Amino acid sequence: MEPINVTRSWMPPFEEYCQEIQELWDSRWLTNMGAKHRQLQEKLAVYLDAPNMDLLTNGHLSLELSLQALELEGEVITTPFTFASTTQAIVRSGLTPVFCDVDPVTLTMDPAKVEARITGRTSAILPVHVYGNFCDVEAIGRIAGDHGLKVVYDAAHAFGARYKGRGAGAYGDVSCFSFHATKVFHTVEGGGACFQDAAFGRRLSRMKNFGFCDPETAADLGGNAKLDEFRAAMGLCNLRHVEEEIEKRSRVEEAYRQRLTGTPGLELKAIQPEVRPNYAYFPVLFDETAFGASRDQVWAALKDRGILARKYFYPLTSAFPCYQGRFDPEEETPVALCASRRVLCLPMYGDLALETVERICGAVLDCRK
Ligand SMILES: *Cc1c(COP(=O)(O)O)cnc(C)c1O
Repeated sequence: MEPINVTRSWMPPFEEYCQEIQELWDSRWLTNMGAKHRQLQEKLAVYLDAPNMDLLTNGHLSLELSLQALELEGEVITTPFTFASTTQAIVRSGLTPVFCDVDPVTLTMDPAKVEARITGRTSAILPVHVYGNFCDVEAIGRIAGDHGLKVVYDAAHAFGARYKGRGAGAYGDVSCFSFHATKVFHTVEGGGACFQDAAFGRRLSRMKNFGFCDPETAADLGGNAKLDEFRAAMGLCNLRHVEEEIEKRSRVEEAYRQRLTGTPGLELKAIQPEVRPNYAYFPVLFDETAFGASRDQVWAALKDRGILARKYFYPLTSAFPCYQGRFDPEEETPVALCASRRVLCLPMYGDLALETVERICGAVLDCRK
């Protein structure tokens, strides 16, 4: 039997993509902010409720260049319960990450613990909307306002999720998205930043193109982080279908919940009040004693049956060897550390058959001693 992967990329109908790219054979405008790029940017700003947006080559460089375009210095308060990219963007921008613990329910940055982390060197807060759960955007906005800090959200998980009717692009000074092939919406590889300040946007758009403000002048220190026309065309196709994909994922989620809700020692994440979820992931947290098997035992048992679940996020980014023991997860972020040891993301994508969900749930429940 084919292994069941944790995710499977959505593809638009082949003919639709062919039609979308056909013009490129005539125009020969293949990259450098052509017509497809412009169209996708406009449509995404509307979909994400962003005042402004720019497309970039991936989510990681959206974060990294955003931090640099904000001209931040010193310390950035962030969370270690995230993908490697978030912390690497901070460190590679010459900034110091300061880790704040997460809320045990949403697994996003705990606003009650942010103020204790603020020092005279703090310049920004970089929280992550985890699994499409929204951070407490109101509390974080208040704290940032009180202390004159910028807020940059890592919104890679939040595409299509809505809080109080608004998309994730509406919040913070900047919100960065990933359009990687494994995400709810993708451009194969790709990303974007939604932002409030137009001057920031002009700097960001120069920085993604070697800092050029005209063909002879590099006004900023930049690099190459442009999204080409072929990937923008993929985005235009996928955006037409993204609500359908979210709807299909909601049925998969419903099937998981029906089968797994109420199992002792197995925690499912509640849908937040006033949130329209995007069903990006299906995380389950195991309590080894109450469930009768540890997260790692369940992961291995599923793997034996060809079901590839993912320990996500594990380990905490603050534990990576590239930081050479600079951080202390046990001391700094015990709640995040505990979650990272207990969480497992089960396969989740729109085309996942409900019978397969049934089989995955059976395999999980069989692990109980
Ligand atoms: C996917 C992801 C990124 C990185 O995005 P890429 O497009 O792969 O560079 C950053 N942060 C989080 C939370 C992600 O899930």
